[in-house]
Amino acid sequence: MLAKDSEKKIILTGDRPTGKLHLGHYVGSLQRRVELQNSGAFDQIYILIADDQALTDNWDNPQKIRDNIIEVTLDYLSIGIDPDKSNICVQSGIPALHALTFYYMNLVTTQRLSRNPTVKAEMGMRGFSSAEGENDNAQGLPVGFFTYPVSQAADITAFKATMVPVGEDQEPMIEQTREIVRRFNQTYQRDVLVEPDILLPETEAQRRLPGIDGKAKMSKSLGNCIYLSDDAGTVKKKIMSMYTDPEHVNIEDPGHIEGNMVFTYLDAFCHDDHFAEYLPDYKNLQEMKDHYARGGLGDVKCKKFLIKVMEERLAPIRAERARWEADIPAVYDILARGTANAVACTNETLAQVRDAMRINYF
Ligand code: ATP
Ligand code: MG
Repeated sequence: MLAKDSEKKIILTGDRPTGKLHLGHYVGSLQRRVELQNSGAFDQIYILIADDQALTDNWDNPQKIRDNIIEVTLDYLSIGIDPDKSNICVQSGIPALHALTFYYMNLVTTQRLSRNPTVKAEMGMRGFSSAEGENDNAQGLPVGFFTYPVSQAADITAFKATMVPVGEDQEPMIEQTREIVRRFNQTYQRDVLVEPDILLPETEAQRRLPGIDGKAKMSKSLGNCIYLSDDAGTVKKKIMSMYTDPEHVNIEDPGHIEGNMVFTYLDAFCHDDHFAEYLPDYKNLQEMKDHYARGGLGDVKCKKFLIKVMEERLAPIRAERARWEADIPAVYDILARGTANAVACTNETLAQVRDAMRINYF
């Protein structure tokens, strides 16, 4: 039996196409999406490639956004997003999102937007300032960037998403969306829009996988990433250069586990079976950690083990990517299909919104 509109479980999630996806994205969101997709518990899943949002701080480089739409799609397909179960869609191809953004802008104040902590932090990183003369090096604040939480609310509500699986940095966006939904439904006296729930990552590693330098979160702008599309040689080189324990100079020295990236990544990616297969000296990760902490276990041995563990995970992803890379027209076809489904769904919401506002003149 088909679920009634109001009972449907709908997921909306997505990424800005500003670069290839890395292991941080993989543990933080991509793995979860595949699980949710394959659980069969949702009526519809939309994965939005937010190219218009990416332009709000990359307006001078549309080529970068254009190139990364296909890269991100290849990343999705290679990790197991199934285009028959999830609609991969491109924001700029979905006109209802722009119209909804315009209507929602009337329901939000500049003061409210200025309080958004994620936008504040991002303004700082990009050198955007809202105050004239506050900082001589700062550029002005582009209106498009300032209002992107409103466009994100349009994205979420246009699909009537009930669940939005995202990182912690997105919490203020979901709160803003819920406020807009309440404001809209109250102002126009109709329950058209749906308040979404956020689904946050569960573990610390899922919330924040550090980069190979051990300094900060893995982030494409920090150059500390292992990309899903890196070849085996590159992954090996990156793991061999990984930050471990600077005080662990000789093999006999006792070593630190905490803050040691090799163990952080093993925590995230290795299972007991890997020991039987690649490192039978130990039964499990705890035994290996204990040995390292006592002294007598060298970094190179640990890194070689991690390389094998990561290869087991990454080799099939790489193979799947290669298969799709050989048929780029099929990838565009998937985007066209997903976007067409998104257009149909969001046009329906837009019609209901205009109806509620009584501005459907024609
Ligand atoms: P940039 O350097 O441009 O900020 P990035 O590599 O940090 O890029 P984002 O586009 O900021 O990637 O990340 C999008 C989403 O991916 C975040 O909301 C978060 O959920 C998840 N994510 C990104 N990096 C990590 C990470 N290192 N660990 C866990 N999740 C991550
Ligand atoms: Mg980031």
